[in-house]
Amino acid sequence: MPFRVLGLGDRIFKAIQEAGYTEPTPIQAEAIPKVLAGHDLIGIAQTGTGKTAAFTLPILAKLSGMIGDGQPRRTRVLVLAPTRELVVQIEENVRAYGKHLPLNMATVFGGVGERPQITALRSGVDIVVACPGRLLDLMQQRHGDFSGLQFLVLDEADRMLDMGFLPSIRQIIKRLPQRRQTLMFSATLSKEIEQLTHEFQHAPQIVQIGRRANPAETVTQLVYEIPKHLKPALLAHLLQDPKLDSVLVFTRTKHGADKVARKLEGAGIKTGTLHSNRSQNQRLRALNDFKAGIVRVLVATDIAARGIDVDGISHVVNFDFPMHSEDYVHRIGRTGRAQQIGDAISFVSSEDQSALRSLERFIGRGIVRKRADGFDYAASAPAAPADGERRYARPTGPRPSPNNWQPQENRGGQRRGGYGQRSSRPR
Ligand code: AMP
Repeated sequence: MPFRVLGLGDRIFKAIQEAGYTEPTPIQAEAIPKVLAGHDLIGIAQTGTGKTAAFTLPILAKLSGMIGDGQPRRTRVLVLAPTRELVVQIEENVRAYGKHLPLNMATVFGGVGERPQITALRSGVDIVVACPGRLLDLMQQRHGDFSGLQFLVLDEADRMLDMGFLPSIRQIIKRLPQRRQTLMFSATLSKEIEQLTHEFQHAPQIVQIGRRANPAETVTQLVYEIPKHLKPALLAHLLQDPKLDSVLVFTRTKHGADKVARKLEGAGIKTGTLHSNRSQNQRLRALNDFKAGIVRVLVATDIAARGIDVDGISHVVNFDFPMHSEDYVHRIGRTGRAQQIGDAISFVSSEDQSALRSLERFIGRGIVRKRADGFDYAASAPAAPADGERRYARPTGPRPSPNNWQPQENRGGQRRGGYGQRSSRPR
């Protein structure tokens, strides 16, 4: 879906283009129309999903329609966030997306002098981004004019609760107009968050991105787009890399598992299988050999692999793309355990594309497409069919993700774009 159809207006659209975004992320695609339509919103999404733009863009769009409405300059938007770093990050986003709009803003947080913040509030600002503690201090000293407030955003509400900000937030909201649009974002939908929505929101609509799915932070996820018949050759090719030293391969069927295992054995790669056609003893032996490093690759079906716990799996390969997104999360949860780096590799053929898109919505992030270095896509192709048409054209280069949204890769437990880091500023 292109950004243009969201109807954010030319000036915001221009800023989005300048930021280099081509398509909305899943949370943006779902949240923006709801906010534009005037609904209160609960967004269940984590950092890295594009949630900041999901609330900033539609609010700016609505605000731009109010510019020059003859109202005196009063604060119309208040964004509350738990930390100074997040406040600054949100400010950078608002500045980037609102760069073609004549709006001004102020940030308010503790740990620095009050004076400049008071001066900024006095000058009349359209948008305030603040940590609750310092903002309440300033409000109690009668700074800021929130009597015309129209939009309230509670970002990372769960974290604000954890940090004990609820009493301050209550005090702040008491001082705001009742008639307003309230948007709340949280990584999880807990009982406390639900309570908060009853207290502060009116008939909110929920947008959930990646609620149940939380692939381990340390797992790097990659997709190889590959015609179906080339999948065994690509797997053998990737296994030439010794870094893939303990690899769990998933197939959709038992028959498929046996076929892949035969191919790999034929290529000299020690391989075991785990599926329900094998006796309990055979399965145990396969698992033990895999754990002991006697076999390097274990090919399994989803059901057989449920609950198995093997330390030190270096890679999970989705040889067949899972039909259900939940299975993907279970599968890749086998690697990256205990902070070890693990890669989840998925082979995606043309028939898997829609499953891949729904998976990306489910986990709330795009997955990087990769092309196998040194793999000869053309040489491995089968003979042309009798009608002379090739079934698959030779790929011409890495395909962009469906939304051109390049997510951050997490490696070795290093969070990028997380709290306190500035890497998530708009490009
Ligand atoms: P957030 O979840 O708000 O912290 O955003 C994560 C990162 O995604 C930030 O670096 C944003 O600049 C970036 N981002 C947000 N929306 C898009 C988009 N539609 N396309 C590409 N990148 C985006």
